[in-house]
Amino acid sequence: MLLDPFKRKINYLRISITDRCNLRCRYCMPEEGISLIPHKEILTYEEMLRIVHVFAAEGISKVRLTGGEPLVRKGIIDFISRLSQIKEIKDLSLTTNGILLKEFAQDLKNAGLKRINISLDSLKKDRFLQITRRDSFERVWAGIEESLRVGLSPIKINMVAIQGLNDDEIESFARLTIDLPLVIRYIEYMPSGNGEEWNKSDILTIPQIKSRLENMGNLIPIPSDRWDGPAKRFRIEGALGEIGLIGAVSSHFCDECNRLRLTPDGKIRTCLFSDEEIDVRELLRNGGSDRDLKEQLLLAINKKPERHPINTHQFKKCQRNMSAIGG
Ligand code: SAM
Ligand code: SF4
Repeated sequence: MLLDPFKRKINYLRISITDRCNLRCRYCMPEEGISLIPHKEILTYEEMLRIVHVFAAEGISKVRLTGGEPLVRKGIIDFISRLSQIKEIKDLSLTTNGILLKEFAQDLKNAGLKRINISLDSLKKDRFLQITRRDSFERVWAGIEESLRVGLSPIKINMVAIQGLNDDEIESFARLTIDLPLVIRYIEYMPSGNGEEWNKSDILTIPQIKSRLENMGNLIPIPSDRWDGPAKRFRIEGALGEIGLIGAVSSHFCDECNRLRLTPDGKIRTCLFSDEEIDVRELLRNGGSDRDLKEQLLLAINKKPERHPINTHQFKKCQRNMSAIGG
């Protein structure tokens, strides 16, 4: 078992497999995109598989693939089918913006992916364009429908709620859970490397969202299971789907943090909001042994901060863009 200095059990690795993306969400990237990591610096799938094998032997049992947009990287289906054969990995998931999901959902399912998180911040076509700078709402919706059709489950929809941008859509998203087996997860807006200027007043806080949802009907709490992470789960009475509330900023869930992140260029990050990075790529490319890799893993775990600093005066935005960290 991997324990950090604060006795937290670390069993979760989020891998950003690419920093490339086919959207330009305002809160994540500027219009012109970000300066990209050169191809030769990006880990190959073989290198990522080796890392996962070594880490899984030490106690990592949960892996999420993210990005950038993970579905734009060629070869992802084969990568997923190889990951899904690692017996210590009990939970394998993917976070996507859904643009390519209609084409990929069946192959993802066949490759062994069971569940999926899809990011969608508006159900309105014009507003989707305003937020992502791409006119692709219908493609994402078709991807959600295809994921339902092929039986990916659960399908979680991540909605970043921002005051004055999409705060009027809280109820419309929740209403989707009444007839569809979707999990709608509301996420507080966080400060990120290259997104638009972030102000605390732009956050629609989880308590604000919860009180809006309570006006819609009886919100029944659902006990968390071991793969839930920081989301607090609810169901609107009689609904097929669920609601998840993730208070990344307002409520510290650092006490329960179980994760490490791997960037596309092979750095382990100890916290979304810390620029502390431990390199594993050079080790991999210079004949490092599995034991050396394990040592880097233990080093990273030992450096995990007790909590993120967003609510303190020491807070500064992290140097890396969200798309190279994986959100
Ligand atoms: N491109 C994929 C997507 O959008 O699902 C995966 C990578 S994206 C960085 C992962 C998640 O981070 C998305 O759900 C996105 O909405 C979220 N995210 C990005 N910037 C954020 C911010 N400033 N605050 C809150 N969530 C953010
Ligand atoms: Fe791309 Fe995801 Fe960032 Fe949007 S949030 S720009 S889809 S990486």
